[in-house]
Amino acid sequence: MNKFSWYDAASVEEAQKEVNSTVSQTIQPDADPNAAVFKAAGIDLLDLMKEGLSQPAKVVNVRNIPGLDEISFSPEKGLRLGPNVTLSQIADDEQIKTHYLAFHQAASHAATPQIRNMATLAGNLAQRTRCWYFRSKDVVCFRKGSSTCYAHIGKNENHAIMSYGYCVSIHASSLATALMAFDAIIEIREKDGKIRLVPIKEFFVLPTVDRTKETILEPGELITSVFLPAPASNRKSYYIKMGSRKSQDWPMAEVAVVAEFSGTICKSANIALGAAAPVPVISTLAIEAITGKSIDETTAAHAGRAAMEIAVPLSENAYKIPVFEAIIKRALLAVV
Ligand SMILES: Cc1cc2nc3c(=O)[nH]c(=O)nc-3n(C[C@H](O)[C@H](O)[C@H](O)COP(=O)(O)OP(=O)(O)OC[C@H]3O[C@@H](n4cnc5c(N)ncnc54)[C@H](O)[C@@H]3O)c2cc1C
Repeated sequence: MNKFSWYDAASVEEAQKEVNSTVSQTIQPDADPNAAVFKAAGIDLLDLMKEGLSQPAKVVNVRNIPGLDEISFSPEKGLRLGPNVTLSQIADDEQIKTHYLAFHQAASHAATPQIRNMATLAGNLAQRTRCWYFRSKDVVCFRKGSSTCYAHIGKNENHAIMSYGYCVSIHASSLATALMAFDAIIEIREKDGKIRLVPIKEFFVLPTVDRTKETILEPGELITSVFLPAPASNRKSYYIKMGSRKSQDWPMAEVAVVAEFSGTICKSANIALGAAAPVPVISTLAIEAITGKSIDETTAAHAGRAAMEIAVPLSENAYKIPVFEAIIKRALLAVV
């Protein structure tokens, strides 16, 4: 691990003044040797630093900035979460459990209790992929500047089954999957203090667009809030994660469903899939399969199969197709 200096920021302004790089930029071959980056709980950042992948000269701690760990809810305006809200805070909040069940479930099932007590919402959204080739400093993969995606031709049981180009990594954030289903909005404070609101569907970046990063965040840009829409009495949600272990692991497949009903008829729905592609994806085929229909065993199973119509599995991960079909069906039946 490289030597680095530590800066404990007391305010958002102070933190942004110090930071001149994203963590993703520090992983690239042309990384700035004087890079200064944001750190929240440090679970992902320290992992990358200890592996020797990221070697920033300065770590700017935003964890102690007052007011960034607050949750506020009103039935009219919806939910606002500060960036430093931990996964445990989300899992323990009764309003979130009542009105945004899928988001509560995604936070409750991520990682371990110890990690959830530390891990922050913003850090979770900005964490890098768990692709084992990307995570090894001994491998210069496609995302780190070489012309080869080793997962494409090598060990790929955990990797993407859809929406990939050459890089077949999957996005690691479970919270992102649930937030996609809720059409969350991310508030970003730009380096010059300007605020912009970004729909979560525009927050993640496919490697076909830019292979060096996974989010639109530019150096010094700070996530300052995440918003979820006001609840509706006819809206319900559900999230399911499948992993090879019950705890301490990222999902091999996950789904979040948010649907609005008129009686038993599904008026509208958002179905988000995680661990399927390099970014969390909305399955328009599954949505089309259930919109305007009554959800039962038959329509729910049909939606699962429809979602997988565009799947193009790799040499070792065709097993994900029946897993996704099953959890989409189960989540839809649970919602109704
Ligand atoms: C064993 C294990 C199992 C796990 N399982 C899961 C799982 O099932 N699902 C899941 O989703 N995650 C899982 N995780 C990942 C974990 O949840 C994330 O590593 C954690 O949430 C990252 O948050 P952090 O606060 O530690 O971020 P940090 O490591 O501090 O930062 C991560 C990135 O976010 C950036 N950042 C932090 N705050 C901001 C901000 N306010 N604005 C802009 N950029 C910011 C940092 O610069 C850095 O690039 C697991 C982790 C471990 C170790």
